[in-house]
Amino acid sequence: MNEANNMIEKSKKYLWLPFTQMKDYEEDPLIISEGEGVYVTDIYGKKYLDGYSSLWLNVHGHRKHEIDEAIKEQLTKISHSTLLGASNVPATELAEKLVEITPDNLTRVFYSDSGAEAVEISLKLAFQYWRNLGKTNKQKFVTTKNGYHGDTVGAISVGAVDIFHTVYHPLMFDSYKVSFPNVYRNEPSDPETIKNECLLEVEQLFSEKHEEIAAFIIEGMIQGAGGMNVMPKGYLKGIQELCNKYNILLIVDEVATGFGRTGKMFSVEHENVQPDLMTIAKGITGGYLPIAATMASEKVYEAFYGDYTELKTFFHGHSYTGNQLGCAAALANLKLFKEEDIVNNVQKKAKFISEKLQTLTELEHVGDIRQLGLMVGIELVKDKQTKEPFPWGDRIGYKATLKMRELGMLSRPLGDVIVFMPPLATSYEELEQMITIMKQAIKQTTEVLTTR
Ligand SMILES: *Cc1c(COP(=O)(O)O)cnc(C)c1O
Repeated sequence: MNEANNMIEKSKKYLWLPFTQMKDYEEDPLIISEGEGVYVTDIYGKKYLDGYSSLWLNVHGHRKHEIDEAIKEQLTKISHSTLLGASNVPATELAEKLVEITPDNLTRVFYSDSGAEAVEISLKLAFQYWRNLGKTNKQKFVTTKNGYHGDTVGAISVGAVDIFHTVYHPLMFDSYKVSFPNVYRNEPSDPETIKNECLLEVEQLFSEKHEEIAAFIIEGMIQGAGGMNVMPKGYLKGIQELCNKYNILLIVDEVATGFGRTGKMFSVEHENVQPDLMTIAKGITGGYLPIAATMASEKVYEAFYGDYTELKTFFHGHSYTGNQLGCAAALANLKLFKEEDIVNNVQKKAKFISEKLQTLTELEHVGDIRQLGLMVGIELVKDKQTKEPFPWGDRIGYKATLKMRELGMLSRPLGDVIVFMPPLATSYEELEQMITIMKQAIKQTTEVLTTR
C-alpha cells in the first residue's frame, strides 16, 4: 500500500501526461502495473476491463503468448538497426505481408513509429509527388470538418477538431475543410441526402481548385476522435471517384480503423476503395509496440524513383523506423489474425453488441449510438428530442467514464461521446459485462443531473 501510494505521488510529481489536464489526474490518478487478456490491473491490485483497447490499440488482449514469444525470439537476434539505407529481416517480411493484405494498388511500405508520423509522411509524399512531376501548383490539402489525423503540426493542419486545434492556428498551414456527412447532427437525418450534399460540396471545390490541390485526406468509413461518426454508405467511394476525376491523390487514414476494427481488415474494403496513400498504425502490432506505416501505390513510388542527382529522393525518416522488435510483434499479430479468424469474428461480435447496446437507448440521455464493427460511440445529450448537448463544462462524458472506472472498466470519452472499443479478441461474455457497466455508469451519472 505504501509503495503504491509512493508511486502515485511520484507520478503526480514527475509526469506530464498526453491529452490530460494534470489537475484532473491529481484528483483521480491511475497507474497500471499489469495486464492479462482484456483486463489491466492497477498498482493497488484493482482489475479493470480494457474497454478502449488501451487507446484503440489492443487486438488479442494483453500478454498474448504468441506475441510475447515473437518479441523474446527477436531479442535473441537484434533489437534495432537502422532502416536508413539498409533493411532488416522482420521489416522486410512485414512489408511483404502488408502489401498482401492491403488494397491491390498499394505496393510500397514506408515505416514510421506513430499514426501522426504516418500521416505527416503521407502529406509530404503527396506534396512532393506533384513537385517531382513538375506540377508545383498542387500544394493544398482537403480534409473533412471534425477530422482527426494526429497531433504533430502537419497532422493538425489537416485536422479540424476545434477543441484540440484552434489554439495552434497561427502555426498551421491552411487546408480546405469540407462538411462531413454527419447523420445525427444534420436535419433532416436522411443519410442519402446528406451524402449527396456533401459530395456536391467536394465537387464544387474540386472543379474550382483542383489545379492547386495535392490530396484529399480522410479517415476510413468512420471519424474516430471527432466523435465516432460513421459515414453514410457510398460517401467514401464517392470521394474516390471525385479524386480520380479531378486528378487529386486520395489519402485514407486507417490508423484507427485498420486491422479488423471495423469488421474488415481495412475499412476501405467496405466500399472497395483504392487509396493512393494509406496510413496504418494502432492495431498493427496488436497493441504492443510503436510501429506505423504509410502504404503507397506504385504510381506514387515511381515519381520518387531516379538518379540521386535528380533530387527526387524522399528525405524523411525517424531513428527507430522499422524497429525489429516491433516488426516481429506485428508479424506475430498478423499470423494470429489468420489462425484465430479475427476479422470474421469481429463481424459476429459486432452484431452481438449491436443488439445488446439497444438496451442503452432506453436511458433518458443516450442520444445516439454509432457503430462500425467494434468501434462504438455512445453520445450523451441533455435532451434526446432536440439533441441539445449538455453544457460542455459539465463534463458528463468524463464523469461517466470515471464512474465506469469505479465499476471496473476503463475508457476515455470524446466530449460527451462514450468510446467503446474493446480488444477484438474480447469474449461474448466480457463484451456483455462491459455493456452492463457502461449502462450502469451512464445511468448513475445522468440520473443525478435529472433530479437536480
Ligand atoms: C490515433 C490516430 C492518429 C494518430 O496516431 P498516433 O499513433 O496517436 O500518433 C491518426 N489518425 C487517426 C485516424 C487516429 O485515430
